[in-house]
Amino acid sequence: MVQKRVFLSPPHMSGNEQYYVEQAFETNWIAPLGPNVKALEEGFAQYAGTNGALAVSSGTSAIHLALKVLGVSRGDTVFCSSFTFIASANPIVYQGAEPVFIDSEFDTWNMSPQALEIALDTAKKKRRIPKAVILVHLFGQSAKVEEIQSICRKYKVALIEDAAESLGSTFKGKQTGSFGDMGIYSLNGNKIITASGGGMLVSDNEDYLDKALFLSTQARDPAIHYEHSSVGYNYRLSNILAGVGRAQLEVLDDRVSARRGVFDRYQKSLGAIPGIAFMPELKDTRGNRWLTAVIIDEKVTGTRPIDIIHALEAENIESRPLWKPLHLQPIFKGSAFFTAADDIGVSSRLFEQGLCLPSGSAMTKEDQDRIAAIVKEIAAPSKMTQ
Ligand SMILES: *Cc1c(COP(=O)(O)O)cnc(C)c1O
Repeated sequence: MVQKRVFLSPPHMSGNEQYYVEQAFETNWIAPLGPNVKALEEGFAQYAGTNGALAVSSGTSAIHLALKVLGVSRGDTVFCSSFTFIASANPIVYQGAEPVFIDSEFDTWNMSPQALEIALDTAKKKRRIPKAVILVHLFGQSAKVEEIQSICRKYKVALIEDAAESLGSTFKGKQTGSFGDMGIYSLNGNKIITASGGGMLVSDNEDYLDKALFLSTQARDPAIHYEHSSVGYNYRLSNILAGVGRAQLEVLDDRVSARRGVFDRYQKSLGAIPGIAFMPELKDTRGNRWLTAVIIDEKVTGTRPIDIIHALEAENIESRPLWKPLHLQPIFKGSAFFTAADDIGVSSRLFEQGLCLPSGSAMTKEDQDRIAAIVKEIAAPSKMTQ
């Protein structure tokens, strides 16, 4: 009999979502905006510790708005972590600007401060300082955000944090997403909490948030009739979806604990296997462990990540490789890439060896033990079996 599918990162409802959605129905706040949106924004600003927050339709649209607010346009360059999901960089292309990709470091798997400095130094010599740096905190692991922030300040470049995967992760006790000039979160269905779809832009700069609000609501100039002198978007979040997000935000800390628990459990059962290494956690940071990510040394284990993915799939269990670095994507062929390592770089090595294990916060211990046993059997086959 085929077992019920185990997903990589499925939504995990608290039970309170329907209450807020019901409230929206009862008061007929079906239209966009409304009390759930307002409460969700206040909740996010408070959680992140920023002056404000703007609820939008996706994390991608939040990045797009951040670039618009900074005036990114054709002829500009924007630096971006290479090791990330495509959504981090697509908005650069929407603006007709040119992405420049920055490699990772082994300490955090995130943007290498050395590579960033090399890239900025090169840009300065060419008098082509980027309009912004998009820093990703991948799989919930905080990047060296303080160091990167001070490099950005040195070169007078705006910093946008893509904290889509790291909601609830902290660096020295402060939330990722709250360091940069702007930060974004995603409430997509696969993230640590969800609104079924949605995103959030946070900032201490109220002017930025006002501008983003203006752009996200069709850039309507103040007048009784509809007056427009710039191009806008329809990017706001619906009050129904915000009701789901609102209940999810209430349980975010529980979800972080649960995902960290999942990580610890995997590490206990698989951490001692030679050739398997878990994603590190930088000193003074606490990740949300959105996905448990490991790297598998084929020379030691005799196994490639894809072998494990196939074995798990045969048991109806979903697992994935790590994100393929953007500088290796066909669509970004020809884009500049900076690394502080050799030509191959760090992110492509992580990609080749990496694997994400199912990490849902509602996953049962039985399912997790089953997964760990499958991985163990492939990567460290028992010597007793003939
Ligand atoms: C999910 C994700 C996004 C985009 O968020 P959406 O809400 O799906 O648009 C951006 N960056 C990263 C790193 C992500 O994982």
